[in-house]
Amino acid sequence: MHIDEVELRLIRLPYRAPFKTSFAEESEKHAVIVTVRSEGVEGYGEGVMDPFPHYREECIAGAWHLLRNAFAPDLLANGCDDPAMLAARWARWRGNPMAKTALELAVWDLHARRLDMPLRTLLGGKRTAIPVGASLGMASIEHTVDNVRRHVEQGYKRVKLKIEPGWDVDLLAAVRAEFSFIELTVDANSAYTLADIDVLRAIDGFGLHYIEQPLHWDDMVEHAHLAELIHTPICLDETLTSPARVKAALDLGACSVVNVKVGRVGGLQAVREIHDLCVQRGVPMWCGGMLETGIGRAHNIHLATMPGFVYPGDTASASRTYARDIVEQPLEAHDGVMPVPDGAGIGVTLDRAFLAEVTEQVEVVRL
Ligand SMILES: [Mg+2]
Repeated sequence: MHIDEVELRLIRLPYRAPFKTSFAEESEKHAVIVTVRSEGVEGYGEGVMDPFPHYREECIAGAWHLLRNAFAPDLLANGCDDPAMLAARWARWRGNPMAKTALELAVWDLHARRLDMPLRTLLGGKRTAIPVGASLGMASIEHTVDNVRRHVEQGYKRVKLKIEPGWDVDLLAAVRAEFSFIELTVDANSAYTLADIDVLRAIDGFGLHYIEQPLHWDDMVEHAHLAELIHTPICLDETLTSPARVKAALDLGACSVVNVKVGRVGGLQAVREIHDLCVQRGVPMWCGGMLETGIGRAHNIHLATMPGFVYPGDTASASRTYARDIVEQPLEAHDGVMPVPDGAGIGVTLDRAFLAEVTEQVEVVRL
């Protein structure tokens, strides 16, 4: 498949409300929307890099440079008959999974649209809807309990709370006092160390489905040690940056639940490899979220139809995050279940008028 051009578009989209985690508080989304064009057909991808490297090391300026000067020129020069081959082709440029993924996703979408089939079909996903959970940012205890109640009433299948030292045991006690029965998880985004073992043991007593990334964002060894000290399963997020890293974490016993974010692991082909490894080893997976716009969210919905995604993911209704999205189709869950968008590719189309309003910068790359 010959690629005619690659468009890079930086957008800024306000959140409905600021989202607070242990590492940052953000009030708007900065996203790179990538469009690839071939013989009148377009495919779309989204980069989940932030302006500054608060989550992993990548940032938008670095990703833009690599997309503009390495990955897009390679794609334009050599075309692509099978998007599953791109990760290996781009392996000579080390790391930078989010930047690679933004373009790889666009090629997958284009490939599926040209074949006139849904992306999920290419990935072996048979489900036409997926169970989803909600991830709640930090707020007061009273507000958080109200927020949990609202999401439980809306039918969300799992509730995840963001925690950090000093914002953990009292919060969990208040939520569990009212909701003893729900599937509850916590995400520390690397806010603890093994010196906090007493608190981590206290958190262990709340019957959590898993605890996500309690320790350093790049660590495996201390997570493996922690896994021997508490009963709650450990789920890794930030640490898992490639199929090889997932295998290493499982071999070490650093986690027993895997959060998959396509941008963090380097693309859909990497997700397929991780998926097959986890299925083979009986390790539950779920699809994490980066507060994506409708392009990234639609990709997440399609990939989460793969059979190994057995836990509810973060791909909740777009309207929780945005007053207005950049795609025309509403991506909304009902009773905790998100329908997969119909149609070819990822099944969504751009709201071009609104996209133009929120665009900061556009560059079209051609040979
Ligand atoms: Mg996380």
